[in-house]
Amino acid sequence: MKNISILGSTGSIGRSTIEVVRRYRDKFKIIGLSAKSNIELLLKQIEELSPEIVAVTDEETARALRKRVKVEVLSGTEGLIAVATHEKADFVLSAIVGAAGLIPTLSAIRLGKTIGLANKETLVIAGKIVTEEAKKHSARIIPVDSEHSAIFQCLENRKTSEVRRIILTASGGPFRGRSKKELKSVKVEEALRHPNWKMGAKITVDSATLMNKGLEVIEAHWLFGLSPEKIEVLIHPESIIHSMAEFTDGTILAQLSRPDMKAPIAYALSYPERLSNVVEPLDFKSLRSLTFELPDREAFPCLDLACTALKEEGTFPAVLNAANEVAVEAFLKERIGFNDIPLLIKKVLDKHQKRPCNTIEEVLEADAWARKEAEKEIRSMR
Ligand code: NDP
Ligand code: MG
Repeated sequence: MKNISILGSTGSIGRSTIEVVRRYRDKFKIIGLSAKSNIELLLKQIEELSPEIVAVTDEETARALRKRVKVEVLSGTEGLIAVATHEKADFVLSAIVGAAGLIPTLSAIRLGKTIGLANKETLVIAGKIVTEEAKKHSARIIPVDSEHSAIFQCLENRKTSEVRRIILTASGGPFRGRSKKELKSVKVEEALRHPNWKMGAKITVDSATLMNKGLEVIEAHWLFGLSPEKIEVLIHPESIIHSMAEFTDGTILAQLSRPDMKAPIAYALSYPERLSNVVEPLDFKSLRSLTFELPDREAFPCLDLACTALKEEGTFPAVLNAANEVAVEAFLKERIGFNDIPLLIKKVLDKHQKRPCNTIEEVLEADAWARKEAEKEIRSMR
């Protein structure tokens, strides 16, 4: 039996994780759950799964929840850390959205727990610290992001020196094929209509701007120890090939399945074993074709902004991520337009003076600085 804590249990990944746990109850038990504001769903999850510990963001919500359930309810970052580090939890599914996932995930790593990592922002902003701490404490990080799960499966038991390049596939999002001019006036609801995946609002907008793929390039760099030149991006609108690895002999391995996050979630949970019948198998007769094209880096500048931040290193990836979080939220609230997202991030990056990024304090400082600058830029844009 594997004991699991889920950080962000009410989100898209959190809910899919619970679906997997529900189907394989003989293998998994839930120890901890956390949510920010969706208390009604959290209550249902508590009733169904009887966790030992629960965390919510604010203390007022925690107090209200304590009156309704018997379980221990904590709040704030301390609450998230308590869920992540509970002594009974062997496995922490990290599925909070944004930089808020870093501290609890890192605290589980420092106790040597196995991490199922969906919260890519953790590696984007603090990849060096997180991977070093994981090594030091023998904590395994198993990717949940579908592309990285694919690469993880393709590279298993192979030497990094034999990898010529990896190819991260991308659906291209709802605006694939549109010009920069056409993107100017797109609406929030159009950006939230992803063609293949049903995800939280932030990552759905990131997919529309291609920032998601940029963040994934940085995530892949830290997960697989590959230099940025060895990480390529290819648009594959059908989302059947989840990513590929090419080896020195010219051979390419790819991982395929229907686009369903339960597949990478289940693989992370059960690794190194595989569960039976997680997703419907592919029906090759009904697959008309698998198509590929290069990303349009001019219409979607976020991809290059992320690749540049990775090459610049230091505090640049943390600044990129924070500026993006502020920009996406502003877009969702209709304070800025779609094309303002890359514009805003670039302005903040251009202003930034690179600093070393060897401690969590340095990461958090860069994050806070970038949020403030991004907010200033938004005000000056209106
Ligand atoms: P959602 O927005 O659907 O869920 C986010 C979860 O985190 C919810 O439980 C939410 O609580 C909680 N949460 C949000 N903000 C905070 C905060 N500041 N502090 C504590 N908890 C918070 O996101 P997704 O599930 O789509 O994504 C989660 C992560 O997984 C992201 O990093 C994303 O990039 C990554 N990912 C997601 C994929 C997907 O298919 N969805 C695919 C690959 C990666 P509440 O519900 O109460 O607001
Ligand atoms: Mg992905």
